[in-house]
Amino acid sequence: MKMTCYVAGTAIQSDSVLEVKSPYDHRLVGTVTLANASHVEQAIQAGLNGGKALTRYDRFSILDKARQLLIARKDEFAQTISAESGLAIREAIYETGRAHDVLMFAAMESLKDDGQIFSCDISPQGKARKIFTLREPLKLAACITPFNHPLNQVVHKLAPALAVGTPVILKPSEKTPLTAILLTELLYEAGLPHYMLSTLLGPTAEIAEPLVKDPRIDIISFTGSVAVGKRIAGSAGYKKVILELGGNDPLIIMEDADIDTAVLLAAEGSFRNSGQRCTAVKRILVHEKIKAAFLEKFLPKAQTYRCGDPADPDTKVGTVIDEPAAVYLESVIHKAVEQGAKVLLGGKRKGALLEPTVIDEVPRDAQMVVQESFGPLAPILTFRDIDDAIALSNSTAYGLSSGIVTKNMDYALRFIKELKVGTVNINEVPGYRIESSPFGGIKDSGLGIKEGVIEAMKCFTYVKTFSLPW
Ligand code: NAP
Repeated sequence: MKMTCYVAGTAIQSDSVLEVKSPYDHRLVGTVTLANASHVEQAIQAGLNGGKALTRYDRFSILDKARQLLIARKDEFAQTISAESGLAIREAIYETGRAHDVLMFAAMESLKDDGQIFSCDISPQGKARKIFTLREPLKLAACITPFNHPLNQVVHKLAPALAVGTPVILKPSEKTPLTAILLTELLYEAGLPHYMLSTLLGPTAEIAEPLVKDPRIDIISFTGSVAVGKRIAGSAGYKKVILELGGNDPLIIMEDADIDTAVLLAAEGSFRNSGQRCTAVKRILVHEKIKAAFLEKFLPKAQTYRCGDPADPDTKVGTVIDEPAAVYLESVIHKAVEQGAKVLLGGKRKGALLEPTVIDEVPRDAQMVVQESFGPLAPILTFRDIDDAIALSNSTAYGLSSGIVTKNMDYALRFIKELKVGTVNINEVPGYRIESSPFGGIKDSGLGIKEGVIEAMKCFTYVKTFSLPW
C-alpha cells in the first residue's frame, strides 16, 4: 500500500517516507508520504477558512454514507488493521463492526436538536422570558490517536467532530497510520468537504507538538499514554483539552461469584486485542477462598487463547505492537518472578509475539500491577474481604474502569460507590460499553471528561444561550 498524508483532500508531495512493517514477520505492509511544518500551517488555514457550513442533513448523509462504505470494505479495513498492528484478524473484523456503530450513532445524533429551554418565571426573582441554548461547533480541532485500535480510536474522534461540524486535523499513531489514512479517504469519498479533514504524520516536533500549542486550534482531543497526555496538558495553553489516558483495570471476583462467568470475563478481558485495550483486565483480584476453584477452570480456558500468525482466522491473540513492547512485558514478568510470583501459563516470547501469560501470587507492589502492562498478561492477586478488595483496586494511580463478578447486590452497590474509577461494570469486563455511552476515566486515566459519541459531540461544541421575552 502506497499512501500519503492529506492537507484538506490534497495528497502531500514530499521526499520523507515512513515504512510500515508487520510486527509479526517484518514484511513491508505499506508506506506513507510524510508531512512537514509547512503542511501543518496549510492544514490550519484550510480548516479555519472552511467552506459552506454543513446542515444537519449534510452531516448525517456523509456519516451514513461512510458507514455504508465501511461495511462494503470491511475486509480491506480488517486486513490493514491486522497487517500493520499485528492484531489477530478476528479482532480486526470485530473492530470494523465497532467503527460501523460509531458512524451510525454519530449520524443518528447529528439529526437531533441539542438545545434546551429554561422558563424564567419560576422564582420570585423571575419574569416572563425564556432562555434557549444551542451548540456551536468549535472552529478547529486537533485529534491525536494511539495504535491499539487503529480504526476505532480514530473514528471515535472524527465521527463526533464531523457530526457537529467541527473541522479536524488528525494526527494518528505512526505505528498504525495506514488504517487512519484509509478512513480519511473513505470520508472524502462519502462526500466530506475537504476542508473538514486533514491527516498529518511526521516528526513529533514538526507536527504533533506545534498542533498542541497552536492558539488557533480550539481543542486537542488526545487518546494515548499518561506520559504524553500530561505533557500535552502542560503545553496546550488556553484551549479545551480532552485526555483519554492509560488504565490498570481490575476484574474483582468475589467469593460468591459464578466461577464460569469469572473465568470467561478474566480470559476475554486479559487476552482480547492482545491485552492492548486501555480497559483490558490488567489485574485479576480474586477472593482468597475461591482462588483454587477459579484457577482450576481459568488455566484450561486461557490455554484456548492460541497466539500466532495474525492473518490466521483461528489465531485468537496476535502480536503486541512491536518487539520492544514484548521485551518490556517479558521483563516485568521476570521482575515479578524475582519477587516471588509464579508463571502458571505462557510467558514465552518470539519477536513481538508474547504468549498469553497467567501469573499467580503477584505481589501488590510488582511493577506489572502498579504500572500499566499493555499486553496479554493475567496477573492474579488475592484479597481477604470487600474492604481489602476496594483498597487494593484503588491503590494504583489509574482510574479508568473496573469489572466485578458477584451475585450480591450489597457488594455491587459498595463497589459502584467506592471505586475511584470512571466505570463500574457488574458481571462484565471493564471494557464493556456501547459506542454512544459515556466513557472515560479519572486520576491518571483522564480528567473525568467523557467521550463516547454523545459526550464527545458536546466536547467539540460550545453552548451559546439566547433569551427572548415570552
Ligand atoms: P502514546 O505513545 O502516548 O501515543 C499516542 C499518540 O500521541 C500518537 O499519535 C503519538 O504519535 C502521539 N505523540 C507522541 N508524543 C507526542 C507529543 N509530545 N505531543 C503530542 N502527541 C504526541 O500512546 P500509544 O503507545 O500509541 O498508546 C497506548 C496508550 O494509550 C496506553 O497507555 C493506553 O492505555 C492508552 N489508551 C487509552 C485509551 C482511553 O480511552 N483511555 C484508549 C486507548 C489507549 P507517534 O505515534 O508519532 O509517536
